[in-house]
Amino acid sequence: MLIVHTAEELQNRMKSKSASLGLVPTMGALHQGHLSLVSRAANENKKVVVSIYVNPTQFNHSKDLDNYPKDIDKDIDLLKPFEKQLILYVPSHSDLYPEGIKSKKFDFGSLTAHMEGASRPGHFNGVATIVEALLVNIRPTRAYFGEKDFQQLQVIRALNQKLDLGIDIVNCPLQRAENGLALSSRNALLTKEQKSEAAVIYQTLEYLNKSATDWSVGEMELYFKSKVEAIKDFKVDYFSIASPSDLIPVSHLDSRKNYRIFVAVYAGKTRLIDTIELVRK
Ligand code: AMP
Repeated sequence: MLIVHTAEELQNRMKSKSASLGLVPTMGALHQGHLSLVSRAANENKKVVVSIYVNPTQFNHSKDLDNYPKDIDKDIDLLKPFEKQLILYVPSHSDLYPEGIKSKKFDFGSLTAHMEGASRPGHFNGVATIVEALLVNIRPTRAYFGEKDFQQLQVIRALNQKLDLGIDIVNCPLQRAENGLALSSRNALLTKEQKSEAAVIYQTLEYLNKSATDWSVGEMELYFKSKVEAIKDFKVDYFSIASPSDLIPVSHLDSRKNYRIFVAVYAGKTRLIDTIELVRK
């Protein structure tokens, strides 16, 4: 597999500058969720760049950064099926942060005011700094992001509009394990027991969609908390229902609008997020 460590090397390796290029930014510890993005990028572009970089500025706690799972050999194995089209970009800090590891300040308005933005101050400045560097340095035709991180996706759409580089942002559906748990690199930090118990998150979200069709937002939140927190060491960080366009949590539903449910849950020390479209018939 072709592995490069600098954006310059990457540019030199791109033989034809006019060929379509798909970029899949990741933090490694790859799983089938990431691979769904890579596979889509491979179908839609001549060449694909997968970046693996654990971005320090999007972490709020150094322990969380230190504990973030890493397994580059396994990542390379998982990417083998795409080898012919793929360049793996594993930058060093200095390649993405030539002036030192510090995030820029952005104003995304309501998009970053709630949920992950509120629970993880500075997180989206870190994300936007690194994604801007990747988009500007690599200039892909399309860049692929997962709906698992729906708030991040909307932030990146806003960032991309500001950058105005003509890059297409492609959103890819959230991939789940067989028991419904949203696939995440952080799942590697769960015990076997926690992994099976964490199925309660999606099960309860599904229940709210299928059986709680006339409940208020408050009732749904209470129910979600009661089911999840019934499990030892599980704690709900937030349960929010928000419109996908402005990401402002609501306390009352307007039947003419579309909404998504957004949740963050601590399973022991591991923080998990999930989101589904709220279906109301
Ligand atoms: P990460 O390595 O966690 O930063 O994720 C890299 C990209 O993969 C992001 O665009 C994520 O939204 C996406 N991703 C992560 N997990 C999933 C999943 N379960 N389903 C779909 N996309 C995902």
